[in-house]
Amino acid sequence: MIADLSAAELEALAASVRADYETFKGRGLKLDMTRGKPSPEQLDLADGMLALPGNRDHFTDAHEDARNYGGLQGIAEARGLFAQAMGAPPERVVIGDNASLAMMHDTIVWALLKGVPGSEAPWSRQSEIAFLCPVPGYDRHFAILEEYGIRAIPVPLVGDGPDMAKVEELVRDPAVKGMWCVPKYSNPSGDVYSDETVRRLAAMTTGAKDFRLFWDNAYVLHHLTETGREILNVLDACAEAGTPDRAFVFASTSKMTLAGAGLAFFASSEANVKWYLARAGKRTIGPDKLNQLRHVRFLKDFAGLVAHMDKHRALLAPKFAAVTDALERRLAGKGAATWTTPQGGYFVSVDVARGTASRVVALAKEAGLLLTGAGATWPQGKDPAEQNLRLAPSFPSLAEVTAASEGIAICILLAAVEAEQAKRGQKAA
Ligand code: PMP
Repeated sequence: MIADLSAAELEALAASVRADYETFKGRGLKLDMTRGKPSPEQLDLADGMLALPGNRDHFTDAHEDARNYGGLQGIAEARGLFAQAMGAPPERVVIGDNASLAMMHDTIVWALLKGVPGSEAPWSRQSEIAFLCPVPGYDRHFAILEEYGIRAIPVPLVGDGPDMAKVEELVRDPAVKGMWCVPKYSNPSGDVYSDETVRRLAAMTTGAKDFRLFWDNAYVLHHLTETGREILNVLDACAEAGTPDRAFVFASTSKMTLAGAGLAFFASSEANVKWYLARAGKRTIGPDKLNQLRHVRFLKDFAGLVAHMDKHRALLAPKFAAVTDALERRLAGKGAATWTTPQGGYFVSVDVARGTASRVVALAKEAGLLLTGAGATWPQGKDPAEQNLRLAPSFPSLAEVTAASEGIAICILLAAVEAEQAKRGQKAA
């Protein structure tokens, strides 16, 4: 542990880490680990899709012409293909355009302007509204709240979901209208919500009668292990708990097929789906059904989808292993950081020495390595301990991830050593 080193030992470690840092910087690399984008090789896996549905193949099973307007809810065979992943029968699945984030955004705006089933008034009529935000979390979720003046209340993730005692206490406040949840392989912590957590979220007493769980199951099939993890079906849990309208479920094929040209999904109770479609029907005459047909032709069935996700895993798992190997090799036992070993999803979450996250990012940048800004995983970019960093190893090549991970570990250690030296300097002064 750095804190336990003698002055001479600390000095020696500082000199050797600084030398490692200068060597790394001297390599003149240009690496980007900022965002969880699929790599070109992952996108190539869906190359076959670009030629589909193919010339003259534009009729759905129900003999609708997918080229034309209409079909607001999405074609039945595409809803059927994704029903299992969404945890709802096809009648309660809606297909949007290419981004589930847009569906989340729209549901929040519609709730603000119109209210949701069970609302006495639109949410925006209330003087203040708030959302619970498990942290560390997804910056784009937090950005939606900021955009519309919704107060974000951080709640710590504890490994198998949010701290439920805190959640149960906070939701008693009628100002709390919603909660972000990334229940499987959470971005970035990798948390997988336990059955108990899902049941408690479904059953908890909320002050707001029209409270909603924004259940962003973005990584539902994105396993990094052969076995994968399953979670409890939140829509079933809510129905059983007598809160059938509580959960809005979202997911997409952004990280299954093509990130910019996938399909986004919404699933919920009958009342919520009816509500969603009534709003959506004012916004569009219908979604891109050719893209839905393209996905059905390419993936074929649920087994085809799972087999396709195995190919992603084969590309991604070695990159995640490269990150955790480098952190382990350079940082184990030093007390300079803790990190997750995710079983799925797109991120490794690292807690560096308190107060050093910005310094790590700055050191990395100076050495040609772009990291997500410090604080990004907290609402308003304010990480009170200034220690969480999100690493996104999917996009760069394996060789680049391996090099970047070495660099990150060196920057983390250097920042921790500097902080310890500063602390001791202050004490001595
Ligand atoms: N939710 C989470 C938790 C994500 O990590 C991401 C992508 N980084 C998204 C949603 C975005 O999904 P989409 O591409 O469907 O908008």
